[in-house]
Amino acid sequence: MQPKGLEKKWRAGVLGATGIVGQRLVKLLSEHPWFELTEVAASERSSSKTYAQAVNWHLESPIPTSAGALVVRGLEPSLDCDFVFSALDSSVAGPAEADFARAGYPVVSNSKNHRMDPDVPLLIPEVNTSHLEAIPVQQKNRGYTTGFIVTNPNCSTAGLVLVLKPLADAFGLERIFVVTLQAISGAGYPGVASLDIQGNVVPFISGEEEKLESEPQKLLGKWDGSRFVEAGLGLSAHCNRVPVVDGHLECVSLSLKKVATLDEVREALSTFEVDPELASLPTAIRNPIVLLEEADRPQPRRDVGAGNGMAVVVGRVRDCPLLDVKLTLLSHNLVRGAAGAALLNAELLASRGLLPRRALSGEASVPAEAAL
Ligand code: NAP
Repeated sequence: MQPKGLEKKWRAGVLGATGIVGQRLVKLLSEHPWFELTEVAASERSSSKTYAQAVNWHLESPIPTSAGALVVRGLEPSLDCDFVFSALDSSVAGPAEADFARAGYPVVSNSKNHRMDPDVPLLIPEVNTSHLEAIPVQQKNRGYTTGFIVTNPNCSTAGLVLVLKPLADAFGLERIFVVTLQAISGAGYPGVASLDIQGNVVPFISGEEEKLESEPQKLLGKWDGSRFVEAGLGLSAHCNRVPVVDGHLECVSLSLKKVATLDEVREALSTFEVDPELASLPTAIRNPIVLLEEADRPQPRRDVGAGNGMAVVVGRVRDCPLLDVKLTLLSHNLVRGAAGAALLNAELLASRGLLPRRALSGEASVPAEAAL
């Protein structure tokens, strides 16, 4: 199902289009039924070149022809598009995303900079669509007109929270202890030096444990009409970089508010299903958690592509001698944890009438409701 009155596609721009996440977005947009890529932007190193010349392409399929011919622009907020995705390096994302929002563009961001802002939704559509109610407050607080910022979580948070959600709903959550084994593509390109990661594990990722301990509190918390109220979970994270290309594995122990058997926990995970509104979005999958019974799964090489990279694969659900339950989960850091997550967020915004059509030069803008 597509949004009412979708007579033409929304024009999308990608800031940071040359990076590892930006490339995924470019690829996903080339096949998208609602969105059309009309602008790519990156640093001065890339701008004024064609995208094909500027990008160091890492995907297995070739650069989409239409994207390859686009000329890379800088970060001035005057792009020919209705909204932008941001996959910018965090050193520049903060002010650049605010500039675009101020200039009237909805900004769908992957970057960490605005995730924990008190008026910015940190969104996983399967978890907290009600947080979109913060957008008018953000616009009022910041004097934005049609623009705003919506963010998706850190790549490790994305998988963890999707698994925590049905457990929180069914049993309530108290404490969560998580150890991550994170892929090298999570560090962007060129990322971790090969001499540091080949045949090795690096038990430190700057800022990662802080994100994994704070973002779930916001995602699983509530928007009370004027502010986000945190979930109040006890959360401790250890983050490690491992020599895997794509896919973050997480070993999780948790305690529940209500006593539950392992079968009840498995049932809550395997029956988790999105509502019809979400199921109608092109990037959504109806059952975003895949539960495996094999003793040695999930594994990045075998399972990272589940649900086109949008599923979180869970296995090894068992008793925990310290807390109540332990399990292992795997999610694709570049799809569920980045580009696919941003795409799903934008689809939800489009279907809710929150993406106004910006005028081409010389035309009047079309309000969101009228565009739908
Ligand atoms: P990346 O490969 O290093 O790409 C960074 C992008 O930012 C490139 O397009 C780069 O353009 C651009 N950029 C850097 N400095 C710039 C400047 N001064 N002005 C304009 N553009 C500039 O990083 P990534 O892994 O794709 O990550 C992108 C963002 O998503 C980061 O904020 C990251 O934290 C977040 N994220 C990443 C993942 C993941 O799994 N990789 C997951 C979730 C979120 P040039 O090519 O021209 O330098």
